Amino acid sequence: MRLVLLGKPLSGKGTQAELLSQKLHIRTFSVGEILRKEIEKKTKLGKNAQKYMEKGKLVPDSIILPLVKKYLPQKGFILDGFPRDLVQAEALEKMRSIDFVIDVHCPQSLLLKRATSRRECLGCGKIYGLEFPTQKKGVCDHCQGKLVQRKDDRESTVRKRLLVYDKQTKPLIAFYKKKGLYRKVSGQKDVAFVQKQIFQILASKNKRIK
Ligand code: AMP
Repeated sequence: MRLVLLGKPLSGKGTQAELLSQKLHIRTFSVGEILRKEIEKKTKLGKNAQKYMEKGKLVPDSIILPLVKKYLPQKGFILDGFPRDLVQAEALEKMRSIDFVIDVHCPQSLLLKRATSRRECLGCGKIYGLEFPTQKKGVCDHCQGKLVQRKDDRESTVRKRLLVYDKQTKPLIAFYKKKGLYRKVSGQKDVAFVQKQIFQILASKNKRIK
């Protein structure tokens, strides 16, 4: 199965990607995660990407596309946060075929509420937030690592990221609708409900008339 998860920042697509990965035994591929690791390692690429990420902007395609070409798995994968513009979507088309593009849809008011409460573990990368509180404040349940707010989760940056989404990523909806790959689920309810909607879509794969 080759999936693209589309959705605004904080729509919950990252959480869904992880859950799907565990259930379907398919690897997730998150460009944002790769970039954050590069920043942590203080590589040249990381430093370069950080300037854009902290401003809520997309990292230029000239940095992203070679990364994707190098690391994208050959067989099954769940893409979280790629493609994010039409240039990337067209590049992906040349690299791999896709089964579905699933849009996890949420109203903006909920996304902003989630932004202020989302925390990431410095140790294992696990995400906590509004719908996933930790047992102990500021400490990861999984590895006891320290929890931090991502700089790009600050409200002002999230607002910018939402504008960037509307301008650069939203056109992908029409792009994938034309190709018959686009499916939309509601990301407003709990994680299990969102997942159920996604599984219904995946189950339709075998019934799809080619
Ligand atoms: P994410 O973790 O997917 O929310 O991504 C965090 C940030 O990484 C984004 O706001 C962008 O600055 C950058 N980024 C992630 N994926 C891409 C991409 N496909 N193209 C350009 N920039 C990206």
